[in-house]
Amino acid sequence: MSIPARDPVTAYVALGANLGDARHSVLTALEALSRLPHSQLTGHSHLYSTAPYEAEGPDFVNAVARIETRLTAPDLLAALQAIENLAGRQRPYTHAPRTLDLDVLMFGHATMQSTRLNLPHPRWRERAFVLWPLADLAPEWVTGEDWARVAQQAITRLPD
Ligand code: ADP
Ligand code: MG
Repeated sequence: MSIPARDPVTAYVALGANLGDARHSVLTALEALSRLPHSQLTGHSHLYSTAPYEAEGPDFVNAVARIETRLTAPDLLAALQAIENLAGRQRPYTHAPRTLDLDVLMFGHATMQSTRLNLPHPRWRERAFVLWPLADLAPEWVTGEDWARVAQQAITRLPD
């Protein structure tokens, strides 16, 4: 991990899993996020169950975490990918079922388009599995238009 960014930034991370014990994977990932270097896990959403959307396999367990971090965005992504790999993440093909997927939704107000990192995440407003948990933490991010866009996507809040 290289030099931490000077000022802390609020980042939102989407968690998703749909292989094996998906709930366990998401809870374990939240624990791992609480141990990220130069960072603090300052909140997480409820857990949700969603049917695969632009993906394959069993239902997903999804959540969103809020992190205050002094890492740079690329270093945060690298740390998230290390957590994915520890969870046994494989990428046999695009949209394959996954033991754990960690996506950076927003990194402060940063905008970035590169092959490795797009910020904000280009599709976050199209997905109920992002909007519902994000609204637990930051309801001001989600507009009426957003809710209408994802109204057809099945999603259930899991018991805490
Ligand atoms: P998915 O698109 O289903 O999440 P992967 O997790 O395999 O698939 O991610 C594919 C690539 O997307 C990663 O190698 C990563 O470099 C890139 N990527 C671009 N922007 C982001 C972002 N905001 N968060 C996470 N990964 C990103
Ligand atoms: Mg991903």
